[in-house]
Amino acid sequence: MNRQDFTLSHESFSRDYDLLLLALQASKSGIIITDNRQLDNPITFANQAFEEMSGYKHNEIIGRNCRFLQGTDREQEGRYVLGDAVRKGEGCIVELRNYKKNGTRFWNELYMAPVKDKDGSVTHFIGVQNDITRRKNAESTLLAERELLERNVRERTRHLKESEDYLRTIIETLREALLVLDKDMTVLSANAFFYATFALTPEQVIGKSLYEAGNGEWNLPELKNILEVVLPANNPFEGFEMTNDFKERGRKDLILNARRIEVDGNYKDRILLALQDVTENKANETRKDDFLSIASHELRTPLTTVQGYMQLAELLLQEDDKQTAIETLNKGYEYVSKLNNLISDLLDVSRIQAKHMQLNKTEFEFDDMIRSCVETVQVGIKTHQIQVDGKVGTLFTGDKERLEQVMVNLLQNAAKYSPGSDLVKVIVTTISGFIKVSVTDTGVGIGKEDQKKVFERFYRVQETQKDFAGIGIGLYVCDTIIREHQGTLWVDSEIGKGSTFSFTLPFTSKQ
Ligand code: ADP
Repeated sequence: MNRQDFTLSHESFSRDYDLLLLALQASKSGIIITDNRQLDNPITFANQAFEEMSGYKHNEIIGRNCRFLQGTDREQEGRYVLGDAVRKGEGCIVELRNYKKNGTRFWNELYMAPVKDKDGSVTHFIGVQNDITRRKNAESTLLAERELLERNVRERTRHLKESEDYLRTIIETLREALLVLDKDMTVLSANAFFYATFALTPEQVIGKSLYEAGNGEWNLPELKNILEVVLPANNPFEGFEMTNDFKERGRKDLILNARRIEVDGNYKDRILLALQDVTENKANETRKDDFLSIASHELRTPLTTVQGYMQLAELLLQEDDKQTAIETLNKGYEYVSKLNNLISDLLDVSRIQAKHMQLNKTEFEFDDMIRSCVETVQVGIKTHQIQVDGKVGTLFTGDKERLEQVMVNLLQNAAKYSPGSDLVKVIVTTISGFIKVSVTDTGVGIGKEDQKKVFERFYRVQETQKDFAGIGIGLYVCDTIIREHQGTLWVDSEIGKGSTFSFTLPFTSKQ
C-alpha cells in the first residue's frame, strides 16, 4: 500500500481529489493533515516536503500529534496560540521552534486551517509549514546588531554624561566665574561662582548672546574681536583685561581667558570663558602704592619739623637764648616721639605679617590701665573732653602695653575724626565673662561698606583721607592685638553722626 492509500483509505474521493492530492505532494511547503475526530488529533497525512523539512520518515510521522516536532522546547508563545485555535476550531498562523530528527532546530511558520463538516464540527486541520530559519536568523542577527548598536549608544551616552557630570562638578567647585558659549556666543551654561560674582540669575544669562547677557556689560568691541576667532582659528586668549560698571556689583576689574573646549574629542564647538575678578587685588595694589607715598610723607613732615627746630635751637644758642633754645628742643622731641610711634606702628605691621606679634601677658588692674591711657591722650588733645563711665573692678591678664596701644589708638582716632565736636565717651562694662570697652565720638562716621574694611591693612576711607593725616594701619594693629587676646573689635557707625569702636576681652585669656 502506498502512502496515499494508507492515509486516505477511509475517504471516498474522486478523480479530482486524486489530482489535488498530487498537488499537495508536489508542494514545496510541508503540508500535514490531522484528524480532529480521533484521540489526540493525530497526523493522517504528510507530504514529501514535510518529511524533508523534519527529517522524519513517513511512518515516523503518521499517527503522532504535531507536538512531537517541538521536542522538549514546549514553552513557546506560538504553541499556546495554536492550542487555543485548535480548541476553538479556528485557523491561525504561528512561528514555532521545531526540531528535526537529528536535533537541529528550525523555525517553522505554520498556517493552520480547520476543515468542518456540514454540521460545522471540525473534522480535520490542515497545516501548511515553511522552514523560515534563514529569515529568522537574519532577523535575529539584525536584532542582535541593533541591540549592540543601542548598547554602544547607551554606553557612549553614559560615558558622555559621566564626563559631563565630572566637568560640571569641577566647574561648579571652581572659585572662578566660568561661562560655556557656543559658536554664536550664546551662553550655554554658567557656574554658581559666575552668578554670585555678578549677582545675575540664569534667566538673565542662559540662552542669551554674551553681548546681551546681564546688562550688556560684555558688549565690548575688543572682546568681540578676540572671542570670535577662538573657534575658527582655534586661537585661545589669556589675560584680556576689562573694567566695567556692573549694575548690581559696581565697578569691577576682570581678567578674561577663553579657549575651545575639548573633552575626549567632544564639544569642539564650545568656548570656555573664565572671568577672574581682580577688583580686590587691584584695590590692594593701589592701596599699597598710596601707602608708600602717604607713609613717606608722614615720615618726612615731622622730620622736616625736627630739622627746623634744631636749626632754630642752634641759632638761639648762638644768640645765647638758652631758655628759648630748650623750649624749641622740647618741641622737637614731641615730633621725634611722633616719628617713633609711626615707626613702631610700621614695625608692628611687619611683625603681624610675619606672625611675630608676641604678647607679653601679666596681671594688671584693667581700670588703671584705662585711666592712664585716657590721661595720656587727654594731655595731647585740647579740643575734646574724654569721659569714662563704668569700671571692671578686677585684675586682668593680658599684654598691658599692647592693650594701652589699642586704647590710645581708638581715643586718638575718636578725637581726630570728630573735628566739630568736643566729647569722646568711654564706657567700660563686664558682660558674662567678658570685658567690654566702647569709645564713642560724634564725628564724621563711617559708611556701611567701609566699616568692614577699616580694619584692613592700609585702608583709609576715600572721602575723608584728604582731610585727615594717617597711614591706615592703626586699626589693623588694634584688631590684631584684640584677636590675639581672643577678643573682638568692631565698629558701629553712621555717616555724619559718629562712630563707636568697641572691643571685648574674655577674662579667661591666659597663656
Ligand atoms: P589712620 O587713622 O592712620 O588712617 P586707622 O587704621 O586708625 O588709620 O583708621 C583707618 C581708617 O578708618 C581711617 O583712615 C578713617 O578713614 C577710619 N576711621 C578710624 N577711626 C575713625 C573714627 N573714629 N571715625 C571715623 N572714621 C574713622
